[in-house]
Amino acid sequence: MKCNALVVLTLFILAACQPQHKDEVPTTGSSTSPDAAGKSVSKRPNIVFIFSDDHSYEAVSAYGGRLSKVAPTPNLDRIAKEGIRFDNCFVTNALCGPSRAVIQTGKHSHLNGFMENEHRFDGSQQTFPKLLQKGGYQTAVIGKWHLGTDPQGYDFWNVLPGQGTYYAPDFRTPDGLVAGTPGEYVTEAVVSKSIEWLEQDRDKDKPFMLMVQHKAPHRFWLPPVHLLDEYVAKDYPEPKNLFDDYRGRGTPAQTQDMTLRVTMDLALDNKMVPFRQDRMNEAQKKKWNEVYDKIRAEVLEKRPQGDDLVGWKYQRYMADYLACIKSLDDSVGTMLEYLEKSGLDENTVVIYASDQGFFLGEHGWFDKRFMYEESLKTPLLVRWPGVAKAGTVNKQMVSNLDFAQTFLDLAGIDQPTDMQGKSLKPLLEGKEPDDWRESVYYHYYCFPEYHAVRRHDGVRNSRYKLMHFYDLKEWELFDLEKDPMEMKSVHDDPEYAEVLSHMKGELANLREEYEVPPAPKLRKGETLFPPWREFGTFEIGLPDKGWTSLFDGKSLDGWRQPFASNPLEPVSQIAEPAGIEVVDGEIHLSPSPQVFYLHTLEFSDFVLELEAFTPGQDFDSGIGFRCVLPKGKQLPAGYQSEISDSRSGGIYDIGVGWMNPPEEQTKINDFVDRTNTFYQAGEWNQIRVMCKGERIRTWVNGQLCSDVEDSKHKQGTIGLQHHSKEGVYRFRNLRVLEL
Ligand code: CA
Repeated sequence: MKCNALVVLTLFILAACQPQHKDEVPTTGSSTSPDAAGKSVSKRPNIVFIFSDDHSYEAVSAYGGRLSKVAPTPNLDRIAKEGIRFDNCFVTNALCGPSRAVIQTGKHSHLNGFMENEHRFDGSQQTFPKLLQKGGYQTAVIGKWHLGTDPQGYDFWNVLPGQGTYYAPDFRTPDGLVAGTPGEYVTEAVVSKSIEWLEQDRDKDKPFMLMVQHKAPHRFWLPPVHLLDEYVAKDYPEPKNLFDDYRGRGTPAQTQDMTLRVTMDLALDNKMVPFRQDRMNEAQKKKWNEVYDKIRAEVLEKRPQGDDLVGWKYQRYMADYLACIKSLDDSVGTMLEYLEKSGLDENTVVIYASDQGFFLGEHGWFDKRFMYEESLKTPLLVRWPGVAKAGTVNKQMVSNLDFAQTFLDLAGIDQPTDMQGKSLKPLLEGKEPDDWRESVYYHYYCFPEYHAVRRHDGVRNSRYKLMHFYDLKEWELFDLEKDPMEMKSVHDDPEYAEVLSHMKGELANLREEYEVPPAPKLRKGETLFPPWREFGTFEIGLPDKGWTSLFDGKSLDGWRQPFASNPLEPVSQIAEPAGIEVVDGEIHLSPSPQVFYLHTLEFSDFVLELEAFTPGQDFDSGIGFRCVLPKGKQLPAGYQSEISDSRSGGIYDIGVGWMNPPEEQTKINDFVDRTNTFYQAGEWNQIRVMCKGERIRTWVNGQLCSDVEDSKHKQGTIGLQHHSKEGVYRFRNLRVLEL
């Protein structure tokens, strides 16, 4: 924080020493080229678009929600107070990447091609920044990008790789990756870089469009340490439907995987076991551990269960999420202050929005994806001095689909006819266009996917919302006036027959207007692969190609018998292989002979992935790696990633002992057994092991479980272990990527 303030202060001093550019905008006939449309460019405003990730309108105090007193956002509120608060801004697809692609293109996901986070944005298509550039604007994007490919159409870009990290964030630049600075916090870094660009790097003879794009408050909500004490101490009001039982709605609400009760992870989300802190500096680690060790000790003593545990998780969630918001709000203050002191504020439109909303315990959920209000709606605040009337509240139906055209319109540049939104400029000017839209269209495409939200599209107007979960052939209709929390679908209520018919017609019209193709067929996708990018694994950036399969689903080719004197002696040569067989594309292990079944291929540096299924209780299994079977022995030498009802994901030096650092081990064993936290017995689990040089890491269902350094075993093969007296252990989708 101090560091950031210093940077800003330095920049102010620099600014004071330089000739002032109070009015940055070129006048007609100046040396800069006139805009493409040949319009007057004399008063074209600058645009600062401040954009966050997963920021619920409930967490902007200007909207007056239940959290506005306990976690105020004075700087965001200032934008609303000095400008316009939009109360009905919706997104077309409540997911990070797709929302961003819609903003770049002004087109729905099915036309811009970026429908899911795993897609890569085709940056060669028409985007608003390219048109702004052509029209004489200077463009920059700083912070979270999340579109896979490099930004195009920007004079300057510094973006976070993938989701980015909260601490010591790396930045991708046109010149390559710039490693994070220890001690730096992402929200502060993004705004510092933005101000640096405004102050030092841009061409001050041109109007500009700057996108300040924050990572916060995206999961896993790691606040800056200086806010921990304050936000941990607060008591956060619960939403009325925190304990929603999902009656009154269909299969999708009942079968999602995004509840605080089940999905929210005590380890990962509530930080009750150590997570990677290698991006924090020593002081940050010290403070972090001081605060979280205390919380951990308290909860260990109380051990809340059931609803009490949900309530406890909610308080933990809000403390972390809202502290991230506080930092974000502070950074907005820093930007507003800079604009003011530099004199840029008078001719700069400041826009604040998020890529979508987020559930803050409503319906017992976190995350987004659904078309329900908390996820569908995003905050939108706009300040345009001298034009937008201060303190205005606008209730028109607007959308992230409108942003691209708004930017172009503000710049006096023609809006391409194939963009699908509407410029908000008339609304900013206080006009009330007669032909404004009456409803918005929504479409979410990602199933199967984490959080298990079914694919759906739908329509919302000022009072009603119709949702169509087409894979299930289920519909939901809500009367938002009578049921703002969306607790009971009135789709089957005869009193709403006319409304239903109207909304179905509206949905059909919008599908036609936006050229929505027929719903795609449900994909096959029982496997947990490809990797769960959001769960701590995205940073590895594994390719889809280059993997070696260790099991073809049909035979035990490549696996050797346990006591082979010749290491290449395959299992298939045993007349009756004991304890191992292939069943329905899976390897089944039974107790006999309770040793490792080893593969014949050897690996040194690699990523190993597989799925494991073990009985509901009393099981002890393991995945061997870098294993070598010494002559005449039954037990290999090497490492093992444990799968057991006590510490799944722990690393064991086979025949020797546990490898995890004592401190980590104590904390883990104190708090939970890992099995019930990361590993789910009686279900398929994704196991990953990564060995590179001396560094060995294991993940269970995306959670990093071990991160140790050891050089004892350098190379060897992969093994499967059954180490219990009974039960059948199942494995499938075994594959290795050599590094
Ligand atoms: Ca997001």
